[in-house]
Amino acid sequence: QAKQEGKHTYRFYSESIESTGYTLIEMETKLHKALERNEFILHYQPQVNLETGEVCGIEALIRWNHPQMGFVSPADFIPLAEETGLIIPIGKWVLSTACRQNKELQDKGLPPIVVSVNLSAIQFYQHDLVEVVDGVLKESGLDPRYLELEITESMTMDVSRTIKILNGLKKLGVKISIDDFGTGYSSLAYLKKFPIDKLKIDQSFVAELLKDSNDATIVQTIIAMAKNMGLRVNAEGVETKEQFLLLQQHFCNEVQGYLLCKPLPLDSLLEKLPEVRLTLEKLGVLQSLNE
Ligand code: C2E
Ligand code: MG
Ligand code: MG
Ligand code: MG
Repeated sequence: QAKQEGKHTYRFYSESIESTGYTLIEMETKLHKALERNEFILHYQPQVNLETGEVCGIEALIRWNHPQMGFVSPADFIPLAEETGLIIPIGKWVLSTACRQNKELQDKGLPPIVVSVNLSAIQFYQHDLVEVVDGVLKESGLDPRYLELEITESMTMDVSRTIKILNGLKKLGVKISIDDFGTGYSSLAYLKKFPIDKLKIDQSFVAELLKDSNDATIVQTIIAMAKNMGLRVNAEGVETKEQFLLLQQHFCNEVQGYLLCKPLPLDSLLEKLPEVRLTLEKLGVLQSLNE
């Protein structure tokens, strides 16, 4: 069906958008209004440091709560936002909300943690990205070291531009991570030239960690490579105790996943944060920590 819409041929016309009963054009109109109607909310997923057992960061994940459709997955509307250019104002809203809310957590007296924000390719190559990030940081009063920006390998294909943009961002004092690492085609030769701080191992490798020896090898290799390059490494999508223990054995720095906590709205996160360590204790995975 998407093919018959001529100019409005989208790369993604996912079944879940189709199942809303709305056409793409109607969805586009709704997405246009979503910002001013306050239909977006950020959920946050804790990231746990495997060396200390403490929550070291939270990843901001956008949710669209539409009055008729209910929650629309970012996997469905982010591609639409990218196609229409709406990702620019939406992305800026995510950045400023994440910085403001992280500052609020610190002002409540919580130990400072890093908030990580996903950037889309279009946002990354926007001419004024560095100024936007700088402005958002100043407006929120958040110390730049507590903001991390997640990019993906597919965004780094233009190597010289990537290095320029990343240098600009690093000058602000923010952290950079490569999300979904291992699924793209980034050249290892260039990886070492990028001023980045962290690799996030894609969850597809973690999912099969105990079942597929190739995935186990890939995970081990990414961790070893990150260490040798002086980068931190995060494993996403950790759902079982066995995955957690294996990652800990291989000296992965941090994990996030449903095992510890699913993404939550800010107030639920505040209630849940103290329980994350208890969850680890109950699982019996903290003994191996050198206290
Ligand atoms: P991502 O950045 O790789 O985020 C991780 C996704 O894995 C999230 O899905 C999260 O809810 C999910 N997840 C976390 N733990 C587990 C687990 O243990 N098991 C499984 N199966 N899944 C887990 P979500 O929130 O639906 O987001 C999907 C993608 O949408 C994100 O992938 C990211 O690429 C994009 N996205 C989300 N928020 C934003 C945003 O604010 N801006 C941009 N540009 N993209 C975003
Ligand atoms: Mg991410
Ligand atoms: Mg991503
Ligand atoms: Mg990811």
